[in-house]
Amino acid sequence: MVSRVIPVDLFDLVIFGGTGDLARRKILPGLYRRFCAGQMPPQARVIGAARSELDSEGYRTLVREAIEEFGGEEAKACDSLDAFLAQLEYVTIDARGEGGWKELQSLMSGTDHIEAYYFSVAPSLFGDIAERLQKWGMADERARIVVEKPFGRDLETARALNKTLATYFNEDQIYRIDHYLGKETVQNLMAVRFGNMLFEPLWNSQYVDHIQITVAETVGVGGRGEYYDKSGAMRDMVQNHLMQLLCLIAMEPPARFDPDAVRDEKLKVIRALDPVPAYHIVRGQYQAEACNEADNPGYRTAVDNPRSRTESFIALRTQISNWRWAGTPFYLRTGKRLADRASEITVVFKDTPHSIFGEDAGRHRNVLSIRLQPNEGITLGVTIKEPGPGGMRLIDVPLDMSFADALKEDDVEHVDAYERLIMDVIRGNQTLFMRGDEVEAAWAWTDPIIQGWEARNDVPKPYDHGSEGPTDAVELLRREGRAWRSLTPKTPKRGA
Ligand code: NAD
Repeated sequence: MVSRVIPVDLFDLVIFGGTGDLARRKILPGLYRRFCAGQMPPQARVIGAARSELDSEGYRTLVREAIEEFGGEEAKACDSLDAFLAQLEYVTIDARGEGGWKELQSLMSGTDHIEAYYFSVAPSLFGDIAERLQKWGMADERARIVVEKPFGRDLETARALNKTLATYFNEDQIYRIDHYLGKETVQNLMAVRFGNMLFEPLWNSQYVDHIQITVAETVGVGGRGEYYDKSGAMRDMVQNHLMQLLCLIAMEPPARFDPDAVRDEKLKVIRALDPVPAYHIVRGQYQAEACNEADNPGYRTAVDNPRSRTESFIALRTQISNWRWAGTPFYLRTGKRLADRASEITVVFKDTPHSIFGEDAGRHRNVLSIRLQPNEGITLGVTIKEPGPGGMRLIDVPLDMSFADALKEDDVEHVDAYERLIMDVIRGNQTLFMRGDEVEAAWAWTDPIIQGWEARNDVPKPYDHGSEGPTDAVELLRREGRAWRSLTPKTPKRGA
């Protein structure tokens, strides 16, 4: 493997919530993989800070188990776990009280390391932690804070949170994570759009009929039922992940690949989004799996709320009111317990203005599909002549590029979204993090949509386990003469 590891400066990373699910499943295994890649200097430290009464030795045991369970093949192959664990410390801390803060302060003093504080705790604790970091002298100019989603649950709460954090930190010290932005293929969206001459001249309402963004999951709410039922697909997925994909696919070319240039362009897209009327929204709730209700219960059973009106699926149609995109529909859909797991952006180009082959040859459209997961890659549907005798009949064939096939696997270093983003925090690069005004603009667009269905007492439509969502979602496109890309796998599934 070609190593492209860029060294980082010495750092101390404090993980508030260092014993929690996210820390154990993503943050710590990710850090270990960076350690194995040679990116964590020997004097750098990771300090877990959480409520559990543990000492550093006990924490190392917890982290060892987490990495063994969630570290994946690369972590297993690396065989340096003891050395990594030696760079870990732990402080029992009370985010709402004073316990543990003096210990943390003394651990953090006496070095000139970069200080990163990862708030991997419930958002209700963000303000308490920020306040205490300042009180104990840790909110100096070397400090960066990383805050997890959800960033607010509406515009008002997001604004309040931004205001609280701004009391203690400057915007260039605040890293709001949307882990979608750390995915290799999401960044590839920018490379495809702005690294090729081919697409840009066609990337507008004159040539594009419509764009679809799909993030489909086969899993249900699992153990997150209580949280999810208060959130729903709109808040959990659309306001952040799908919105980010929409920005990257629709934004103007930034002048430079630098944080503010990129985020300025994304913000313009969000601000240009049209409001979404009720007839352009379909919400759904999954039903139990037929004949297997015990293993795969319906949404309301899964969240233990028989009257729940929270959506586990949403499809909507929006438009961007600017010169590039006026009149081009953007269809967004996301949901749980759908036919397949897929994150995909589909750009459907317009018909040719005139068919020289006559109507019998059929009319075909170029479709560019960008698959983010699984099987990352790009497919361009190209129209050709159907082989064989019998005149000129047209068919579509895919120009298919799987990234895994195109880039020899051995040459590619796989970096998980979290580990990439944590290293960006250490480097001080905010390009892949959301700015405060961006988050607020996203909520300003989302709020009236949610308020609308709350005022209407809208009940989500049921949809079958393993389906494409409610039939109304299919209708949303069909009535405009369009169709969603099918989620139903054409080849036998290799596992969801
Ligand atoms: P969790 O409940 O598993 O862990 C919470 C952590 O916070 C624990 O370490 C606990 O000790 C600590 N904590 C709780 N109260 C505390 C207090 N008063 N003082 C000090 N520490 C305290 O939660 P999680 O799933 O790890 O999620 C953490 C954050 O990450 C949340 O904001 C969540 O929304 C976000 N998030 C989680 C996931 C995920 O997959 N788990 C995904 C995206 C975002």
